[in-house]
Amino acid sequence: MFTALLDRITGRLPSQCLICRAWPARPLCADCVTRFTPRTSRCTTCALPVSEGVARCGACLRDPPPWDACHAAVDYGWPWTVCVARFKFHGQPQLARALTALLKRDAAVTHAIAQADCVLPIPMTRQRLAERGYNPAWLLAQQLTRPLAPHKARADALLRTRESTPQRELRRSQRIRNLRGAFMAQPARGACIQGQRIVLVDDVMTTGATLREAAHVLRQAGAAHITAIVFARTPEPGA
Ligand SMILES: [Zn+2]
Ligand SMILES: [Zn+2]
Repeated sequence: MFTALLDRITGRLPSQCLICRAWPARPLCADCVTRFTPRTSRCTTCALPVSEGVARCGACLRDPPPWDACHAAVDYGWPWTVCVARFKFHGQPQLARALTALLKRDAAVTHAIAQADCVLPIPMTRQRLAERGYNPAWLLAQQLTRPLAPHKARADALLRTRESTPQRELRRSQRIRNLRGAFMAQPARGACIQGQRIVLVDDVMTTGATLREAAHVLRQAGAAHITAIVFARTPEPGA
């Protein structure tokens, strides 16, 4: 309640642009948004940059991910690494609104939210949530559904059963093993998943191992359609 009020107040106050430090500005000024969000063609199932006119990258054609579509607002590089770090690790949950605004500029994102029955964040364990105070993915999921359909955002349908070593410290093969059994569909919330169109939300997608494991669990629980939406997508090494 208090956080929501604070968020509403700070969201309206002029502040410094996080990137260029212009003042007064919204957390991200219009110039920086234009400069650092170049129009990028992305693979429709993993959001990696692809050449104009290409729908799916070679990797997705060879080994399709366990979801139907994927959208990202930006590549995970400077200055977005800094913005995401502030949002996730430096106690600035109010940035959810500015980051989500960049996602919502994509008609495919707003369409996916409009079509969805449920919008689910990648969950954290209770312990991790207590340590950090908020789940960044949940804040993004909430902002994505506002103002038209806040009821679609659900934090209780997909659960994290155990925390694993932070993914960023692991190699790809270790990441996949590390996550096995980390998620569970809440049996009492089966109606949110079975036969439903689901949007799965996370802040950053690097290898996609976390989203894959979560989507796999949702598929097993009967999800009819899954769209992954992430704020930032890590480009392939060397890309
Ligand atoms: Zn700026
Ligand atoms: Zn792809």
